[in-house]
Amino acid sequence: MTLELRCGDVVTGCEGVVTGGTQDEVLAAAAVHAADVHGLTTIDADTHAALTAAIRPT
Ligand SMILES: [Zn+2]
Repeated sequence: MTLELRCGDVVTGCEGVVTGGTQDEVLAAAAVHAADVHGLTTIDADTHAALTAAIRPT
């Protein structure tokens, strides 16, 4: 199973999509994306919850 997280579900207007085989992989990829694209070097608890909630199976 592949999981995906559409960044636009969390950050309005972002076209980024990250995928992974597990929730942890998706969150790790999302952290890299957030740092690279959004300059977000730390993921706080609220953001982590929002990201987790936005993960969907493809
Ligand atoms: Zn993004």
